Amino acid sequence: MKETKIILSEKEMPKQWYNITADMPNMPKPPLHPGTRQPVGPDDLSAIFPMALIEQEVSQQRWIDIPEDVLEIYSLWRPSPLYRAHRLEKALGTPARIYYKYEGVSPAGSHKPNTSIPQAFYNKKAGIKRIATETGAGQWGSSMALAGNLFGMDVTVYMVRVSYDQKPYRRITMETWGATVHPSPSKVTQTGTKALEADPDNPGSLGLAISEAVEDAATHDDTNYSLGSVLNHVCHHQTVIGLEAKKQFEIAGDYPDIIIGCCGGGSNLAGVSFPFLQDKINGKDLRVIAAEPASCPTLTKGEFRYDFGDVAGLTPFLMMYTLGHDFIPPGIHAGGLRYHADAPLVCQLYKDGLIEAQAYHQMSVFEAAMQFARTEAIIPAPETAHAIRGAIDEALKCKEEGKEKTILFNLSGHGYLDLQAYSDYMEGKLSDYEYPEEKIREALSKLPVL
Ligand SMILES: *Cc1c(COP(=O)(O)O)cnc(C)c1O
Repeated sequence: MKETKIILSEKEMPKQWYNITADMPNMPKPPLHPGTRQPVGPDDLSAIFPMALIEQEVSQQRWIDIPEDVLEIYSLWRPSPLYRAHRLEKALGTPARIYYKYEGVSPAGSHKPNTSIPQAFYNKKAGIKRIATETGAGQWGSSMALAGNLFGMDVTVYMVRVSYDQKPYRRITMETWGATVHPSPSKVTQTGTKALEADPDNPGSLGLAISEAVEDAATHDDTNYSLGSVLNHVCHHQTVIGLEAKKQFEIAGDYPDIIIGCCGGGSNLAGVSFPFLQDKINGKDLRVIAAEPASCPTLTKGEFRYDFGDVAGLTPFLMMYTLGHDFIPPGIHAGGLRYHADAPLVCQLYKDGLIEAQAYHQMSVFEAAMQFARTEAIIPAPETAHAIRGAIDEALKCKEEGKEKTILFNLSGHGYLDLQAYSDYMEGKLSDYEYPEEKIREALSKLPVL
């Protein structure tokens, strides 16, 4: 019988995270303080992050030990399986071999707990009692709620008001794990109170929710802030995905020619690809593709320059491909991919030609999601479906060219809490959005020149 799942034992779980800055041909430019416009130092960050994470943020040490307590919690769902997509390959009639790493097996249903768990751990160790964070549709908030629960910490989540009202299931998930969830804008913070005074029906935005969470953390000594993507330490934590995949490919006697990850802030793409990119930097022939939405085309249409990490302009300036921090992308269902920029590490690697990018329209993404659900059976998150579109397109190219390539994509999460999106697709209510060139130009024109 041909093998479908390649499974590692818990003993084979990676004991260290990989830090790609040790091997990058060019280091990303440093984050700049929004006031002084000088590189930020550890002291600038210590009001909202624990020192261990700040050290990882600036570290150039190739390997970072994963603490024993983190490994123990990882073992609740890790190592995650690597699947060979036999049924999808057959449906496509492709000579390509398609593999996917399934991160939907985590309790929160995505890759995000790979970083929320260590983030909670380091904060707890630093004496922090509570984490304040924001969430859009709820993927990050639920991953942080899970981590807080497992380490006995309080978690306060500011959830964008429209999602709070329209998508109750992730809120209920967070509450089940003991988190306190406020619709944002809330009356808990000054930022939220002001926004509500101006407009009591304010639907909220991710930028506003970030501002509330940062204010909460900065004004309480026992509270820190936590971010689910973009930062270097988040990318390092996610490399457990690619490190496991490497061992699984060894067992399969194969090696990927093409690696694809969907790209919102860049963390799951970083996670699946960075350990393989180490080989590419050392001469291996291999392509890495970031799959992004055509309606929020950060890498393919953005500019490489300093911009704020958040919509409100509270964070340091980061060197990224950006559409402008106040660009508001159209309301596609892949909410996790609507970030205006990408992780500085991913951006630098893209700039240096080590990563490629491809933008996909919503309808073709859902077509791919449906084909995947009807062959491989897992219903993927709409975000993940961008990577699936990419994998299917590459597999069809192999068919045309008669080439037997090995394709790996990261199945970053399942879509069982996103079924409304599937319903809308099946009822013909979804459409493609034009590439919002005018709005992007407008948002970029407002950026400071640094
Ligand atoms: C949050 C999320 C993403 C996007 O974030 P990245 O940092 O780009 O990985 C992708 N897929 C799923 C399932 C998510 O929850």
